[in-house]
Amino acid sequence: MNSPHHAHLAEPDVTDTAAPLDVTRLLTTITDNLVGMIYRCRIDAIWTMEFVGEGCHKLTGYRPDELVFNNRVSYDQMTLPEDREHVSRTIRAALEANESFDVEYRIRRADGRIRWVLERGVGLRDAYGQLAWIEGFIQDIAERMATNEALREAVRRYSSIFENATEGIFQTTPEGRYLNANPALARIYGHASPDALIIHLRDITRQLYVSPGRRAEFVHLMQAQGVVRNFESQVYRHDGSIIWISENARAVKNADGSVQFFEGTVVDITERKQYEAELEHQASHDSLTGLPNRSLLRDRIDQAIAKAQRDGKLVAVVFVDLDHFKLINDSLGHHVGDCLLLEIAARLSSCIRSHDCVARQGGDEFVIVLTEQDDDHEIIAIVSRLLESISQPWMHHGQEYGLSCSIGISCYPQDGADPDALLRSADAAMYQAKASGRGTYHFYTRELNRAISERLELENSLRHALDRNEFHVYYQPRIEVASGRIVSAEALIRWDCPGKGLIPPDSFISIAEESGLIIPIGQWVLQEACRQASAWQRAGLPPIGVSVNLSPIQFRQDGLVDAVAAALALAELDPAYLELELTESLVMHDAERINVAMQSLKALGVDIAVDDFGTGYSSLSYLKRFPVDRLKVDKSFVRDIDSDPDDAAIVRAIITLGHALGLKVVAEGVETRAHLEFLRQHGCDELQGYYFSRPVPALEMEVLLRNAGAPQSGRAE
Ligand code: C2E
Ligand code: MG
Ligand code: MG
Repeated sequence: MNSPHHAHLAEPDVTDTAAPLDVTRLLTTITDNLVGMIYRCRIDAIWTMEFVGEGCHKLTGYRPDELVFNNRVSYDQMTLPEDREHVSRTIRAALEANESFDVEYRIRRADGRIRWVLERGVGLRDAYGQLAWIEGFIQDIAERMATNEALREAVRRYSSIFENATEGIFQTTPEGRYLNANPALARIYGHASPDALIIHLRDITRQLYVSPGRRAEFVHLMQAQGVVRNFESQVYRHDGSIIWISENARAVKNADGSVQFFEGTVVDITERKQYEAELEHQASHDSLTGLPNRSLLRDRIDQAIAKAQRDGKLVAVVFVDLDHFKLINDSLGHHVGDCLLLEIAARLSSCIRSHDCVARQGGDEFVIVLTEQDDDHEIIAIVSRLLESISQPWMHHGQEYGLSCSIGISCYPQDGADPDALLRSADAAMYQAKASGRGTYHFYTRELNRAISERLELENSLRHALDRNEFHVYYQPRIEVASGRIVSAEALIRWDCPGKGLIPPDSFISIAEESGLIIPIGQWVLQEACRQASAWQRAGLPPIGVSVNLSPIQFRQDGLVDAVAAALALAELDPAYLELELTESLVMHDAERINVAMQSLKALGVDIAVDDFGTGYSSLSYLKRFPVDRLKVDKSFVRDIDSDPDDAAIVRAIITLGHALGLKVVAEGVETRAHLEFLRQHGCDELQGYYFSRPVPALEMEVLLRNAGAPQSGRAE
């Protein structure tokens, strides 16, 4: 405070007020409290300080008196040697030009630390007009330098991000010009450099976006919300190809709130979009035929319904099911089956108009949705075309296959209000078409609905029938013509369904087959029949064989041979007493596999009979190759054997054929003495029918067996 240099600053302005203004003191207060050092130095080689303010200590770590007149250190010494030259040149140049100067350099403080300072000053002349001193101010700018450095570092870092980012980065004007773009953006849009991009793309709306409305939407979102997130659009690259991008951007605003520019990032999501589209397609289309699948079909029906509601027309849901597809698939292999399905898909697609839709519902089921229908006639015309097209023979690897399909039709609004109801109705109608001989179509009717719900109910009850012991096996004796004795019995299942009475197999076997229940049910019959045959033998009754009917479904099942062996073992029955009946249609359609399965069954020691013989189209060569023991002439031929010469001829031929192949021939459905006589005359080996006995419960069969000593005579003439 008591610096010796006050004197030359300014003369105190003495006034006679009560508290005179001491200007010297005021200035001293100011200079001493400045953050920095005021000084006056000579213009000599070492900048000899004549005066320094109190700030000296804070700035340099030296007390003012240590620096003044170079008492302990000169200011030049304090200046870092490498900066001295620069400082000196800057100052002297300014002085020569009669200007003030400012210069930044580093000093080494008393404590050895180095600080950045900024010095500002002017030259001062002596009484002779010679430049003699400098007066000025030196302040510590370390903090500012650090900030600057940080700033520089930030700029360096951000520009590196900008340059090297894999995301495209842009700044654009609301009008649609580029202010800035990074190399990645140029790359994404197919330009050689950011500059090339900026020059080329002068109208983003029209040049970039595939649908120009997209840019308008972008700008609108920006104005409304100030940001857009994951904004996905299709854009043109420079070469004209189209890609998908996703943008994240924000609006940078002026102080008055108006948009200055947009800035944001762009990523190329083309691959992801393609993948998504692929997934989407996979999820909604059938992989084999490429047709819409079940779930897309429902959408299409929904759309058709909505449209029909608007224009008051009909929608027809046409359910197409190939006839006998399963047989082709099973006997010729899945590959041929797949080829056939492709062929069908193509044929169906070619029969419909562009606004209709063909879908694959699954398996061999296709559904066609016909929109804008006025009446049944139009629908029938299209359906007839479909039937006609499907019934064309199909050539595959030089083989010709005959095809046919069954079609069920339901219409909106009368047959259902939604896709599920319409599909159910069309499905029901399709079953009806199958039942009425295949290769035809059927419209849905209410009666059909009743039949379907009854069927469903039956299937439900069937599921519990085994657990609830509702099945019984009836037996129908088979008589050897030569001896007149009962030589075996056919096991025929009966279902005692509560509330419905005894249900014959024809009413539920097909349901059991479709639901898969035939496997456990068939297994149960097999075990029960073996057990019964064994029990009769053990009771001392004349030993007879038992015949068990096998469903084709059971026959295709892998475990059949084991199941038969297990039933025999469980009952301790000699396999020679068991016969398995297979229907003729099964035998013919899956020849090779059936043959293998038959051989393994034969190896167990059981007999095999072909049931309902004459109704299928057996080829003799198969019959010869298969290990078959008996043919059972279907009862439909026997019925009119004595009145219809054709039937008589067929039965005679079957007997002759069977014998020629070394097989026994059994006639079923023998109801009259006339039947018996005819068959005996023509050498039929065994007979079965109401003439001898209806199928009866085991206990009644036992009675028949006890009387079996005597040859059987007809009871129901
Ligand atoms: P199927 O194997 O041809 O059996 C002969 C059918 O003809 C039996 O009908 C029998 O009652 C009937 N029948 C016997 N004698 C006469 C006759 O003199 N006149 C007439 N009109 N009919 C006669 P059912 O018992 O109703 O069985 C029908 C079909 O159900 C059987 O035909 C067989 O294919 C199937 N079935 C029966 N039980 C089983 C079984 O346990 N498993 C399998 N998978 N199918 C079975
Ligand atoms: Mg049978
Ligand atoms: Mg039969």
